[in-house]
Amino acid sequence: MAAEVTCSFCGRNKKDVDLMISGIHAHICDKCVTQATQILQEEKKNKVEAGTLPNFKLIKPREIKKFLDEYVIGQDEAKRVMSVAVYNHYKRLTQRKIDNDVLIEKSNIIMVGETGTGKTYLARTLAKILQVPFCIADATVLTEAGYVGEDVESILTRLLQAADYNTEAAERGIVYIDEIDKIARKSDNPSITRDVSGEGVQQALLKLLEGTSVNVPPQGGRKHPDQKMINVNTENILFICGGAFEGISRLIARRLNTRPLGFATSSDHENIADVDRDNLLQFVSAQDLKTFGLIPELIGRLPVLSFLNPLDHDTLRKILTEPKNALVKQYKKLFEMESIELEFKEGALDFIVERAVDFKLGARGLRSICEAIINDAMFELPSDKTTDRLVINRAYAEEKFNKSHYSKLKVA
Ligand code: ADP
Repeated sequence: MAAEVTCSFCGRNKKDVDLMISGIHAHICDKCVTQATQILQEEKKNKVEAGTLPNFKLIKPREIKKFLDEYVIGQDEAKRVMSVAVYNHYKRLTQRKIDNDVLIEKSNIIMVGETGTGKTYLARTLAKILQVPFCIADATVLTEAGYVGEDVESILTRLLQAADYNTEAAERGIVYIDEIDKIARKSDNPSITRDVSGEGVQQALLKLLEGTSVNVPPQGGRKHPDQKMINVNTENILFICGGAFEGISRLIARRLNTRPLGFATSSDHENIADVDRDNLLQFVSAQDLKTFGLIPELIGRLPVLSFLNPLDHDTLRKILTEPKNALVKQYKKLFEMESIELEFKEGALDFIVERAVDFKLGARGLRSICEAIINDAMFELPSDKTTDRLVINRAYAEEKFNKSHYSKLKVA
């Protein structure tokens, strides 16, 4: 008769637990695993509090940027700014314990860049190396308290969730607020009598950004009187905001008193080449954000201003093939799992990039175009045991793309 299996830690019998994991000479039950995890987390927390967590302050700006470089193509300026801001954020968190004389102020960041140029992606990639809780919030869903939509506190709910409801950890976290441009003041628009989603939200954000104690509903949603709240202090939370700020190039041009190529027409859609020749976003200033409709108080609380470059043909091409998890690599992997070798010819890659340029969706368009081209093969080949190789050349890409609904979309 086989010996009874018992947990080597608590002695429980296998039949009394949900799961028993067996090692070479020992067994451990699910209850002991849970308990051990809690002990580990507690230990880690203590180390962080004591400022002794190894490598907590070792991620230097260069290292952060090197990591970002593996995933995000180009955008050097933004990557440098982000790396420094995050590093300083770490320094600020560790320094306060030792030195009470000089208080380093936090430097919240605002990034301006066309849609699909990697703002969110940069923030997401950053989250991978961070040892602090990190969340992404969307400014468009926020409204002033009392109106339909989410209160600004919902951002902190998300951060708390990212921190597993460890308030202290959340209070050292980083928040990325996307589409900050969508809450610009819209007072020029006569149809809006009450600027619920614009200036009101900006006002509400002010307090969060500068540091305040906020009662946060742990599960999100509307605050109501009987709900148990968690108090979160935002003083040490780093906020990074991003937005496309469509049309801001014109404001920059006006301020610089230039009339760049491509802006002379009344058309909204300058072509990529023109933007490239005259990437005005690099000259963006706080003044332009104000003209765009951000209130000066909000701009004041976002002292670090950075920009992302529009993506030209070459950059899009690199994005398709070079990053660690480049699209082409992902598709190859997917096919490899079916024992099929997938090859993209240069012509096909050029075709994909050309269409992405047409659609003006930045790198965001690449994925959908690839899907349109490759979907048929992904549908058929897993059941087809005779194929072990697929070559996608320009003709194949064109044919599949033209068949798809994408080809019918009107190019901007
Ligand atoms: P946005 O600037 O609108 O926030 P995103 O960050 O959402 O744009 O970009 C959309 C997608 O395009 C990302 O998920 C990423 O895969 C890809 N992408 C965008 N820019 C880059 C870049 N510079 N390097 C690599 N991939 C990028």
